Amino acid sequence: MFQPRMGAPAARRGHFRAGAVMKTVPLLSIVPCDHCSNACEHPGAILPMKRRAFVTTLGAAGLAACAAEQGDAPAGEQQRFSWRMVTTWPPNFPGLGTGAANLARLIGEASGGRLRIQVLAAGELVPAFEVFDTVSRGTAEMGHGASYYWRSRSEAAQLFTSVPFGLNAQEMDAWLYYGGGLDLWREVYAPFGVVPFPAGNTGVQMGGWFRREINSPADLQGLRMRIPGLGGEVLRRAGGTPVTLPGSEIFTTLQRGGIEAAEWVGPYNDVAFGLHQAARYYYYPGWQEPGPTLECIVNQRAWASLPADLQAIVRIACQAINCDMLAEYAARNARALRQLLDEGRIELRRFPDSVLARLRDVSERLMADLAERDEVFARVWASQRDFRTLSAPWQAISEQAVLEMRDSGGPPAGATDAQP
Ligand code: CA
Repeated sequence: MFQPRMGAPAARRGHFRAGAVMKTVPLLSIVPCDHCSNACEHPGAILPMKRRAFVTTLGAAGLAACAAEQGDAPAGEQQRFSWRMVTTWPPNFPGLGTGAANLARLIGEASGGRLRIQVLAAGELVPAFEVFDTVSRGTAEMGHGASYYWRSRSEAAQLFTSVPFGLNAQEMDAWLYYGGGLDLWREVYAPFGVVPFPAGNTGVQMGGWFRREINSPADLQGLRMRIPGLGGEVLRRAGGTPVTLPGSEIFTTLQRGGIEAAEWVGPYNDVAFGLHQAARYYYYPGWQEPGPTLECIVNQRAWASLPADLQAIVRIACQAINCDMLAEYAARNARALRQLLDEGRIELRRFPDSVLARLRDVSERLMADLAERDEVFARVWASQRDFRTLSAPWQAISEQAVLEMRDSGGPPAGATDAQP
């Protein structure tokens, strides 16, 4: 999905404080992962030397600040808490980092300042991929990131972000809140002393930027593409070569031909990175990430220390941000797409059906293989897969049907149907 580092083109455009990014986000060395055969973005693959056993009890430093605040505080609703939220995002990262900041601000406002949360960008307290461990230990009470970064902790964790050919944003919310998904998520994180909440969604992403056309499955052979996680593994099994690159290197590597394609997020974040200046063909749909959910995670003991009304505020604020981020991406992606099409320098393409069919087949086999190796993964995947099966007929005659009816003119102006 999104690499928690930044790229030069966006920095030049002033979408965030590039100087702070470069200062606070260390360059991480990428090594082959021992969870899959290719280099990937799994935390364990990127920082193997940092891997260590989880400490599920709260560290001494964990609630020190909180406890100090509460020392002489009156009981019950007047207690005041001062928490830290570590994130996997650079400061002010558009949409994601700003979403975490909005969450902290909302909780502070709604609680009348009784629960204040200091937001820390990646690298300010800990590197991006140590967020989960840090919250598990209690060194920080709260974190914001994406569950699929924690695959080295639990294979099943990645199922709560997004799965190739899986649920869209609306369906993810439906599964999490009303389909048993959130209960499973809590169960998966419980051994680590971490409580998860859905807290943001980018909506469906784009298939990515390509320097050459993709007209058939044969064009995937040998394709060198920046694509992380499960999507990358699918590409590898389909004959391509997934490449892992920090966000800061995508633009220059693509522009210089070191890779032939790259997926990032969608028009809003892609334009900020300048990817439209590095490749001509912009493919959709984003089969690899149809509706990635972001997470807010809370240390279990810190959570238990909150009075019921502050717990309710955190829960409601997470739901508010979960909704707000999706709305923001929907609006900003639409505007960025319009800008791209108006400029007229790119070609918007739909993946041919034959390519999508091949990738879908490979994805289903990959998920089945992973389920065979991990019992918890198997249980969560079964729940999500069954929900997809349940949801599909309703989506077909509701959201999908109404969009087809409303926009019967076909793909947006400027798009080319790439069906061979
Ligand atoms: Ca992505």
